Amino acid sequence: MLDFDVIIVGGGPAGLCAAMYAGRGMLRAVLLERGLTGGELLNTEKIEDYPGFLSILGPELAAKMTEHAVAFGADIRQENVDAIERLGDGTYQVTTDSGATYLAPTVILTAGGTPTKLGVPGEVEYAGRGVSYCAVCDGAFFKGETIAVVGGGDAAVEEADYLTRYASKVYIVHRRAEFRASKVVQERALANPKIEVIWNSTVNELTGGPGGLTGLELESSVTSEKTILPVTGCFIFIGFKPNSGLIKGHFDHDPSGYIITDDRMMTSMPGLFAAGDLRVQLTRQVTTAVGDATTAAIAVEKYLTERKTAGRV
Ligand SMILES: Cc1cc2nc3c(=O)[nH]c(=O)nc-3n(C[C@H](O)[C@H](O)[C@H](O)COP(=O)(O)OP(=O)(O)OC[C@H]3O[C@@H](n4cnc5c(N)ncnc54)[C@H](O)[C@@H]3O)c2cc1C
Repeated sequence: MLDFDVIIVGGGPAGLCAAMYAGRGMLRAVLLERGLTGGELLNTEKIEDYPGFLSILGPELAAKMTEHAVAFGADIRQENVDAIERLGDGTYQVTTDSGATYLAPTVILTAGGTPTKLGVPGEVEYAGRGVSYCAVCDGAFFKGETIAVVGGGDAAVEEADYLTRYASKVYIVHRRAEFRASKVVQERALANPKIEVIWNSTVNELTGGPGGLTGLELESSVTSEKTILPVTGCFIFIGFKPNSGLIKGHFDHDPSGYIITDDRMMTSMPGLFAAGDLRVQLTRQVTTAVGDATTAAIAVEKYLTERKTAGRV
């Protein structure tokens, strides 16, 4: 018999929730997390859209979710997963960079993803103090303020339009002379009187002080002229990389690498489930991550029962 019923890869909100449900469901589960548990919650200042908490600090919610999972018996190990592979008999083999190997009939992959960074001075310093990568999460903190959105794809242009419900003015800073965003998205944004586009410009630096972000240093790629754009918020939407590359072998995904699942969160590989930010879906929030994980953990229980009934465990 294998040591585990399920291996959970990633200890963000999705992984911790899956571990809690797996524990309550009496499954033998192990959660492998490369760093501290909490995932993107650890990079989030304040959360105001998680039911039950009018306002809570990201690290505090991370600690509560970890305590909750541990209270139901979660076996959390600090491991950086290298690969997830389906062996010939259908068992999953998860290998880590410490040289350990874990085997189980099912895996729930909750490794999230990483927003692409601008990589300019001030970006790290003002993260959570004006700099954001999530409009739904942080838009409401910028009511009546003048802000900037950096990017030119669908995410940037759509989110700029969304942010005008809070901000009094939204600049879209784009390095080219035209957007990559779809026509309909562009038309809606360009017709919005609160939006002004600054074309052919790159961000050199984010500037500010003890109170947070105060402006962006921009450079025109046409004239090389440098200007300061006074803003108190800067939303960066220049890409997001889902951590789906850990899976060896073919699995269904969209062109950006987001994993496609069925309504039980199962991927195209039987026994491999995915939950949270790395899954194809409309929005990526803490609530959606834990919702996915709930479904995935319960689906794992049913999958194992069905296999047992069929005499395959
Ligand atoms: C700045 C910011 C602010 C946000 N604010 C809000 C908000 O206010 N409200 C809201 O609802 N949502 C917010 N979000 C979104 C929310 O944080 C995510 O939707 C949520 O964290 C997704 O959970 P997850 O578990 O899928 O992924 P993550 O939180 O990304 O967790 C993934 C975990 O997997 C681990 N991992 C990755 N690769 C490996 C590996 N190879 N081996 C082992 N472990 C691995 C990572 O270390 C990480 O701990 C915000 C996001 C950001 C970036």
